[in-house]
Amino acid sequence: MSEKDGSDLESVYTVGMAYMTGSGRPLDYREGIKYLQKAADGGFVPAIRDLAVAYLNGLGVPPNAEKAYPLMKTASDALDPNAMYHLALMYETGAGVERDLYEALRLMAYSAGMNFTGAAEEADRIEGEIDGERKRRLFSRPILKLEISDVDIEAVCCKSMLDAAVAKDVYVDETYMGPMLLTEDENGDEAAITECPFCKTKAVRVRRDKKY
Ligand SMILES: [Zn+2]
Repeated sequence: MSEKDGSDLESVYTVGMAYMTGSGRPLDYREGIKYLQKAADGGFVPAIRDLAVAYLNGLGVPPNAEKAYPLMKTASDALDPNAMYHLALMYETGAGVERDLYEALRLMAYSAGMNFTGAAEEADRIEGEIDGERKRRLFSRPILKLEISDVDIEAVCCKSMLDAAVAKDVYVDETYMGPMLLTEDENGDEAAITECPFCKTKAVRVRRDKKY
């Protein structure tokens, strides 16, 4: 039997998970890790993911989010919806990677799009968290300049724009010309704008501030 054979790696993984869950084999994390590592080394995506989960939770190995991150990223990049779900939570909490709520939402929404259980609810929750954080950020900055990043309004120029940004009457979104400041025109159509409709301050591009 070749170790490169996918079905062989799957059976190694199955034995590993039997030890990790105590179903079909006695519960033994350390023994389970040996099998998961072997299947992961062979490139079996569910094993790479569950090895990452073991590192996150400290099952059979000392807890180590920095070791979990590259493994979870590999499984997520292979479009494993379960790995995307976990990677989203790692970005949300800053476990093993710099905290990034927008990346967390992007991954969770992708996982939800693949119908992974619970991902849609989690995406809604993270979206609410982003709303809360952006309100706090906008209110905490001086009203002075209109600054936009690739995903959001980072600072506002006047009180009217602050209200519009909080109400999401004006927002940043991806367009064919790249991320733009958008609003609805009188017909209710989305329209790109380059300056504040209230005080006419020009919008300037800044790097996204990840420190919420
Ligand atoms: Zn303004």
